[in-house]
Amino acid sequence: MKQLIRDIPIKSIPELVAAMNQPKFRSKQLQQWLCGKGALEWDQMSNIPASLRNKLADKFALSGLSIAEQQLSSDGTRKFLFMLRDEQTIESVIIPMDKHYTFCVSSQVGCAMGCSFCATSRGGLVRNLTSAEIVEQVIHLQKHISDDKPKSWNIVFMGMGEPLDNWDNVAAAIETFVDEQGFDISPRRITISTSGHIAGLKKMQRSEYGVGLTVSVNSCDDSVRKKLMPVPGRTPLPEILDAAEEYSKRLFGGITIAYVLLEGINDSKSDARVLASLVRDRPFKVNLIPLNAINDKQKKPQEDQILQFQKALASYGVRSFIRSSSGEDIDAACGQLRNKHK
Ligand code: SAH
Ligand code: SF4
Repeated sequence: MKQLIRDIPIKSIPELVAAMNQPKFRSKQLQQWLCGKGALEWDQMSNIPASLRNKLADKFALSGLSIAEQQLSSDGTRKFLFMLRDEQTIESVIIPMDKHYTFCVSSQVGCAMGCSFCATSRGGLVRNLTSAEIVEQVIHLQKHISDDKPKSWNIVFMGMGEPLDNWDNVAAAIETFVDEQGFDISPRRITISTSGHIAGLKKMQRSEYGVGLTVSVNSCDDSVRKKLMPVPGRTPLPEILDAAEEYSKRLFGGITIAYVLLEGINDSKSDARVLASLVRDRPFKVNLIPLNAINDKQKKPQEDQILQFQKALASYGVRSFIRSSSGEDIDAACGQLRNKHK
């Protein structure tokens, strides 16, 4: 299989162009087609001579994703199932917000973390996505936003996979998003969500760009967390939160703590008290996410219970937001659409 051209770092395109005995200005043109202009076929590159396009096409593949399925929710959320060149599938989502769009992208096919409430964990990790496969999700999503709104978008790594378990490729994709010759967006518009992958957090700490961070906590009781999240649950939560707090020093805003609420498992008043004790007076804000149930054994709490949990947190001095899943009438929990397709 030919290498995807977007797997060449955007900074190295000038070298590639020079090696093909082309004038310098061609590299900028090529970078534009690979990023902002989002070419998915070589002959779209109208200002690049056919001879060079052919040379590039001999060596590289331009596109590695095709749309296998699309779902549109009544709330405007649009979900895509993409087929990769090896016939594996991944999901990406467009979530319309008031003033921008949020693009939710995948970082892996499957996931090795084994979380019991998450559809992506079924079947374990199949493989990492390359940086080109991450970037190309955004290119496809960009083509599907409607014209009647401002076109700006944020990227959240909250699709399939644990981004910090594939940090090198995720970091290379971030480089393409942020680089002036790439998409030229602010790192503040990118957020990594992690289950608490400690080795990945340490790598991220040393990385060039300070992108946003969400830590999926989901339970503050070691034994419950280990059951819900078998792999991340092996690292003590205080260690993960310390690493997150350290990372927050690089950011303007704080870190988000995501807490998926499961009825009878992590939604009691005492759960709220322990959560509050861990996050209070630190640069953390808490998002409560009612479970999007994927099995019969785990349910989302009743509305009233969710509000009680939020109230309890507030009584211990912690403000929180309830984030209902977007697109509840489609297969919104990431991994659901892929499982259905198999
Ligand atoms: N692996 C990373 C990012 C992908 S999951 C992580 O775990 O953070 C993105 C978010 O979706 C996480 O906060 C996770 O806890 C949440 N999530 C997974 N399955 C869910 C479900 N069935 N209902 C609600 N949230 C879910
Ligand atoms: Fe992986 Fe995140 Fe799903 Fe856990 S919640 S299995 S870490 S994608």
